[in-house]
Amino acid sequence: LQDILVRVVDLTSAQLESKHMQFDVDIEQDAVILGDVNRLMQIFTNLINNAIAYSKEETTVKLRISTNNDYGIFEVKDEGLGIEKAEISRIFERFYRVDRARSRNSGGTGLGLSIVKHLIEAHQGKIQVTSEVGKGTSMKVYLPLKK
Ligand code: ATP
Ligand code: MG
Repeated sequence: LQDILVRVVDLTSAQLESKHMQFDVDIEQDAVILGDVNRLMQIFTNLINNAIAYSKEETTVKLRISTNNDYGIFEVKDEGLGIEKAEISRIFERFYRVDRARSRNSGGTGLGLSIVKHLIEAHQGKIQVTSEVGKGTSMKVYLPLKK
């Protein structure tokens, strides 16, 4: 996962810098998983792009890789707009966008997270969201460790 993260950090750094934001990268414990590199990069890129898009300038996006007994864990944590509880279950639906965010962010189709969820499930993984409006959002991706 570390190799993938390093590549995606590189690919997203221009967008990050355009908002005067920074990454805080913490490789607590690297993880080896079985998967499709391009698809895994797509998962990481989408989550990081969201963290940047739905945050104010000059905030930090924390990127963390860790493991538990069964999973490699990739966490993206922002200090952005946050998502209301009632919306959290809906953001993985195709074309769903939270209104508050839509007015702030010009582009976007609302497809990113539905694709992310699909790709994570294709890797037998899962995604967990915690969020607080006005404080920020954490997205944790769990991908089964290679046995
Ligand atoms: P795109 O298809 O370009 O990714 P999108 O970013 O709008 O468009 P999703 O990535 O699927 O679509 O996200 C759906 C909605 O969930 C977003 O429009 C936004 O309202 C909300 N969202 C996603 N990530 C975050 C985040 N980190 N902080 C706050 N809101 C978020
Ligand atoms: Mg998106």
